[in-house]
Amino acid sequence: MNKFEQLGLNEQLLKAINDMGFETPSEVQEKAIPVLLANETDMVALAQTGTGKTAAFGFPMIQKIDVNSRTTQGLILSPTRELCLQIANELKLYSKHIPSLNVAAIYGGASISEQARQVKRGAQIVVATPGRMKDMISRRMVDISKIEYCVLDEADEMLNMGFYEDISEILSHTPKEKNTWLFSATMPKEVARIAKKFMKEPQEITVGTKNSAAENVQHEYYVVGGRDRYLALKRLADTNPDIFSVVFCRTKRDTQKVAERLIEDGYNAGALHGDLSQNQRDIVMKAFRAKQIQMLVATDVAARGIDVDDITHVINYQLPDEIETYTHRSGRTGRAGKSGISMVIITKSELRKIHSIERIIQQKFETKKIPTADEICEIQLYHLASKIKNTEVNQEVENYLPAVNDVLEGIDREELIKKMVSVEFGRFVEYYKKAGDINVSANGSPQDFSSEGKVRYFINVGSRDGYDWMVLKDFLREQLQLGKDDIFKVDVKESFSFFNTNAEHSEAVLQMFSEFKMDGRFINVEISKNTRGGGGSRRKGGGGNKRGKNKGFGEKRFGKKGGKGNFSGGGKRRSRKKF
Ligand code: ADP
Ligand code: MG
Repeated sequence: MNKFEQLGLNEQLLKAINDMGFETPSEVQEKAIPVLLANETDMVALAQTGTGKTAAFGFPMIQKIDVNSRTTQGLILSPTRELCLQIANELKLYSKHIPSLNVAAIYGGASISEQARQVKRGAQIVVATPGRMKDMISRRMVDISKIEYCVLDEADEMLNMGFYEDISEILSHTPKEKNTWLFSATMPKEVARIAKKFMKEPQEITVGTKNSAAENVQHEYYVVGGRDRYLALKRLADTNPDIFSVVFCRTKRDTQKVAERLIEDGYNAGALHGDLSQNQRDIVMKAFRAKQIQMLVATDVAARGIDVDDITHVINYQLPDEIETYTHRSGRTGRAGKSGISMVIITKSELRKIHSIERIIQQKFETKKIPTADEICEIQLYHLASKIKNTEVNQEVENYLPAVNDVLEGIDREELIKKMVSVEFGRFVEYYKKAGDINVSANGSPQDFSSEGKVRYFINVGSRDGYDWMVLKDFLREQLQLGKDDIFKVDVKESFSFFNTNAEHSEAVLQMFSEFKMDGRFINVEISKNTRGGGGSRRKGGGGNKRGKNKGFGEKRFGKKGGKGNFSGGGKRRSRKKF
């Protein structure tokens, strides 16, 4: 008997589950489904995004619906049009083998009469955004007076978007004796309030620790002059060539402006805000999902409901007015068991706010310096070198090789490399040659910036080897038998990373990695040229030539933890279909 059968699901659902390739129920599914199937009860379930909540309420709802009746029996409220459509589509997949079950999606920005027709056709389940739902109730286009099950999905987001009144109003049109199932990633006061007001002795389910998303996120701030915000943003982007990020601005105007400047400066950026048409927003989101956009500049409102899991960085171009909003912003990264970084660009006068945020999120910020021109150039150079190394040769090139060889005749390897790198790299060097330091020293900040007594290292593993800052830190600590805070300022790039230790550990670090081989591959560590992260001069004759021996670069993984998240049972990130 498979695990889904054990939960008590019927034939048709099991068949659909099999079709979808789900193998094991996720934790929230395992906990919620049997309870909801066997009881007529209210429920509050807390689980992070990406943990399979839709099926946790969708399976039991579908199974409990009377498909011989065409009355609307289930209502699912969800915060955005996107999520609404997503849920409706999932439910259709789940009920694929139950032809008489109809699901209607109700949301703004599309024909209301068409949606009314969908409902009239006999939709037993209606998935709706609160705004459009209210509208359709008042026009008597939908009847929810006989529903038996009501789901409040992403309740924290809905309340955060100001839907409290709408939800109350909608629920006032539903029967008292229905069951209400509330699903949420977090449990702020407002959610507790709604649970208290609208639910009777709900069963509580919590998956992972409450708010556990926060633990995967590292918080950093950078102090600059008010006029240098944009420059700071650019440098942060240049230090992270593989960034996949949401950049938050406070106003629509700033959002548009920052995105435009980034695009002008050659970055893969896009804007997302309320002044764009729905169609424009759809196009931007599609490009973002496809990673054609690496920096999505967005307002808080427009970014709600972004359900992209692998965002590496959230950048607060400006801090929000409300601390709660910061939590929502930073929650866009560090999802589904991955780690993330939330960066804040602030001016000295805003430092106070950092401390208030620390109190609320109960996590410390790390104060960091905007990388210097030198540091950025070093990173870009390493990035370029590993990109060249990892590029697959295009067969077409062969045809032109004789001619190319003629042109390059007489240039030796060393010289050729220098020239090639300069071609690509020249633009950067030119720009940064003139660039000064834009950091503002933050007096009274808890940590000092001085690099004295600290050493910064380069290591030739990165995110493509399965590392993020947490995994790398743990790996190094384990290898070196160091304490919790002995490895710091860990910056993971695609195929290499940086980290710091105090000078007293540097000998041990270099010793450890002098001939370090793992899975047949050399892992080398060198002292980075950058003093900023805290370090001396590059070790002469270090591992430079050794790196050439690293055959199979990026193929083997090691030291990678089995996932923290719910989707990474086997530590594999690719296969979403296996828990
Ligand atoms: P949440 O609502 O918690 O953010 P979703 O319900 O949207 O998460 O699920 C995220 C993804 O995981 C969806 O693509 C869904 O099809 C998939 N999924 C859900 N349950 C399972 C499962 N048991 N096994 C594999 N994949 C699953
Ligand atoms: Mg969901």
